[in-house]
Amino acid sequence: MASERDRAESRPLSDLVEELLAHEGPLPIVTAGEPVLRRTAEPFDGQLSPDLLARFVAALRATMHAAPGVGLAAPQVGVSLRIAVIEDPAPVPEEVRLARGRVPLPFRVLVNPAYEAVGSYRDAFFEGCLSVPGWQAVVARHAKVRLRALDEHGRAVDEEFSGWPARIVQHETDHLNGALYLDHAELRSLSSNQAMADRWNAPTPADAARALGFLLPD
Ligand code: ZN
Repeated sequence: MASERDRAESRPLSDLVEELLAHEGPLPIVTAGEPVLRRTAEPFDGQLSPDLLARFVAALRATMHAAPGVGLAAPQVGVSLRIAVIEDPAPVPEEVRLARGRVPLPFRVLVNPAYEAVGSYRDAFFEGCLSVPGWQAVVARHAKVRLRALDEHGRAVDEEFSGWPARIVQHETDHLNGALYLDHAELRSLSSNQAMADRWNAPTPADAARALGFLLPD
């Protein structure tokens, strides 16, 4: 017999999104352990009308700002569609900007995104996720990626990203494939927000690697 929850998950996604948007304020963000974060999200193919898509994207953006975060994928609000938003004003000190390549990333909507590595260089830095609150860990990621996607108007995007924007693109696209950053993190680097604030705010995780006992890519 279908549970209440099973029935909820078999409803049209447009009904689910309408219901989410009926409430005021930021959308509730689901956290690790919710199956929607582990499913491969459906390609967007008109499941939401243009008006509903525009309102959903606006709500994702407002939710990302309120969190605050630099990216949010639809499954993180319980909607299994291949849609994500990214935006990073990058309010960081110069030394952090230089070490991490954290440059401002204007607001973007990624619809049906996929990425591939450009070159073999990898960068490792602490990152976190709004669906894994309270923790951060070091993840080695492609330093440069080629992103192919559609924008919110259905126009094709084919663009290269490097530095922190490349990290954001990979993190958010991975969500649409049911992956969390912890799946490929250095687990020995796992640090609470308190430990991050107290100890690991240097521009690179080199000190953390020595103290906690994990390796960084060459
Ligand atoms: Zn995330």
